[in-house]
Amino acid sequence: MTTLDALRDWHRGLRAQFPLITGHPDQAYLDSAATSQKPRAVLDTVQRYLTTANANAGRGTYTWANATTALVERTRARVARFLGDPEPLRRSGVHFTSGATEGLRAVARDWLPHHLRDGDEIIVPFADHQANALPWLEAQQLLARQGVRVTVRELPYDPASRDYDHVALAGLVTERTAFVAATHVHHVYGADMNVHRIRAAVGPEVPICLDAAQSVGHLPVDVTALDVDFVAFSGHKAMGLPGTGAVWARNTRGPAFTPGGWAGTPNTCGIAGLETALDWLDAAGTDRIRRWNTALAARLTDGLRTLDAYEVLGCRLSLAADSEVQQREGIVTFRHRGIGSNDLGFVLASHGLLVRSDGHCQARAGESESSVRVSLHVYNSPEEVDRLLSVLRSL
Ligand code: PLP
Repeated sequence: MTTLDALRDWHRGLRAQFPLITGHPDQAYLDSAATSQKPRAVLDTVQRYLTTANANAGRGTYTWANATTALVERTRARVARFLGDPEPLRRSGVHFTSGATEGLRAVARDWLPHHLRDGDEIIVPFADHQANALPWLEAQQLLARQGVRVTVRELPYDPASRDYDHVALAGLVTERTAFVAATHVHHVYGADMNVHRIRAAVGPEVPICLDAAQSVGHLPVDVTALDVDFVAFSGHKAMGLPGTGAVWARNTRGPAFTPGGWAGTPNTCGIAGLETALDWLDAAGTDRIRRWNTALAARLTDGLRTLDAYEVLGCRLSLAADSEVQQREGIVTFRHRGIGSNDLGFVLASHGLLVRSDGHCQARAGESESSVRVSLHVYNSPEEVDRLLSVLRSL
């Protein structure tokens, strides 16, 4: 029995919980790497919160205000537990953001400058999302204006697998290496970047910041196993509302992460939705979600391989779910050899196939320039993948 057969009933039960999906059977939403659809439970929570307890957090003394303050603090701990933190908020902290971009910028703006010294070196991934490259360069410029010189090196890639090259990385590390930024799952190639190997390559003392925008909500993310110091993610890609996200900080290597100065009013209904989204994901099982998405992506990749007109981008060494080399999560990016990717995106949309076609915000635009990205989630079905393949075949 295939993974898709084994999980079919489980998937049906989950898919039925997404009103925008079930309400539009003619549309196949294949752009979950941009943002996920929202299950009924999250929508209900937000409605309930706004109609029963809406108030500001940390300010009033009346019931609604107390309930909102408790909600925010409870969700902080919930995020930490969801990420496998064994002692939520004992030393660690959780800061709510509008998404992964703001989370990474907060680390770069409010923590990194307090941590780095003149002559230090940092290592960052330039072929990943620009949200995980530009903030570190901005921090370098900010420090330069204060007379603190920091060298930025590129986290090396293995050109064949598009994985990070951990051997080359180990060779880059010096006694001045003070910080590494990495990405858990690549937003164009769908590759699991094997970040568990980074700790061994850089040694026990160097803080590691993980961009988990494409992994939280898609697969189990465990800060203990990964031994990273920051995890920034998008709540809105993990079944939460638009404009939500968080950064988890370990706070044991370097200064504590205390972002934001005057915090202002938090996105309380977004935080209410995020708490329910994480409960929903845990109940669905992130491991099963991963198996489903990986199997759908494999079905698409295998189908594309039979079509000469298409080139699949990214890791070519191995994509098998049990591969030691590289695993592709639920993202597949490709090009037609004759049709421009924007045109292809329009054609697919006219068939109700909602994909992304552009340069995908890659920091150093490379081969991903103008390609079509299909990103899958637990509400997508094998029939939708087959429908996509059948349209692609007909072009
Ligand atoms: N990092 C990666 C790998 C992404 O794929 C994205 C979004 O596409 C981001 C960061 C930015 O996330 P957000 O839209 O939540 O700011």
